[in-house]
Amino acid sequence: MRRGYYYSSVHLYVHVPFCQRRCSYCDFSIAVRKRIPAREFVEAILWEARGIELGEIETLYFGGGTPSLLPPDAISTLVMELTSLRRTPHAAREVTLEANPEDVTPDNAKAWHAAGINRVSLGSQSFDDGVLKWMHRSHDAARIGAAVHALRGAGIDNISLDLIFGLPTELHRDWERDLEMALALRPTHLSLYGLTIEPRTPLDRWISRGATKAPSDDRYAEEYLAAHRRLKADGFEFYEVSNAARDGFRSRHNSAYWSGKPYVGLGPAAHSFDGRTRRWNIRAWEAYRRALVEGRSAVESEETLTAEQREMERVYLALRTSDGLPLTAPYRSLPPLTAQGWITVSDGSLKCTPEGWLRLDSLVSELTMQTETR
Ligand code: SF4
Repeated sequence: MRRGYYYSSVHLYVHVPFCQRRCSYCDFSIAVRKRIPAREFVEAILWEARGIELGEIETLYFGGGTPSLLPPDAISTLVMELTSLRRTPHAAREVTLEANPEDVTPDNAKAWHAAGINRVSLGSQSFDDGVLKWMHRSHDAARIGAAVHALRGAGIDNISLDLIFGLPTELHRDWERDLEMALALRPTHLSLYGLTIEPRTPLDRWISRGATKAPSDDRYAEEYLAAHRRLKADGFEFYEVSNAARDGFRSRHNSAYWSGKPYVGLGPAAHSFDGRTRRWNIRAWEAYRRALVEGRSAVESEETLTAEQREMERVYLALRTSDGLPLTAPYRSLPPLTAQGWITVSDGSLKCTPEGWLRLDSLVSELTMQTETR
């Protein structure tokens, strides 16, 4: 058991590792299963949770994998049990479920709402059936609209849609059309991810054998900037490099990660952070479960961040957000970065422009190098 950790107020993440197949671009820690071992999963998560002293749960987030593959009663048990582990149980303010469109039936949506889910993040990815097939997704475009309709009908109005951009040219994906289709569904939030080629994924193998070409950087940048223009015109704010929300609908859970707050992750491969030390769990589902059944810790390893690592993270996380990095000391070569239009200074903070977010990593290393030498 994982005893001795105390988190006074937490953002709680539950990693549900199960998927019905692997998408072509995905390198997440998943377990492909036809039958979802829901009872074993719920038991394992609750065993793990009981080994941690949890304070007030601010937000609860079921991510994956595909959490919507869990039967609704398993989701309900987890929400109820996790929030009642506190001596003074209270409802978490934001309870998010990641869902794939094909799992969102009217009955499931009603059961999720009754279980306390008040936000759903829908893995839409594209509204082009050919592209969805290429991605190995198990839904078609029509299912996305049906899912949004079912969620609203059940009383879940806080709906985020995920879309992937920067796809290989030969797919002829019409990014503007996909943005219009997404906006027509009136989501409160959009997460936009550029396609990356991760090692050992089906996509990586297709590229190695010449069956497809890696997407171009130009296309990636054009589509990213086009999304900024279009979503801004529709009243969205990009409050983080990959996330845009209508007023009042930022993800509280993910915002906590970006502001360096403590969080606890339960489940295989989940990470926890108490402000100084990061711990991560055993990756594989069976090994994770075995550890808990045998009374061992599910934590695979941990690292305590040095002052230098903490500073690097602080700069990186702050620059990811539209609130930016508080300007507490002069940065010697800030003028070239502002002259290039990559960074602006406002309200006493350095903030990336959309063009700056396209080169976030290099901006962070420039600014942290300056921190070290100033
Ligand atoms: S559904 Fe999500 S987690 Fe599962 S394989 Fe596809 S992208 Fe990966």
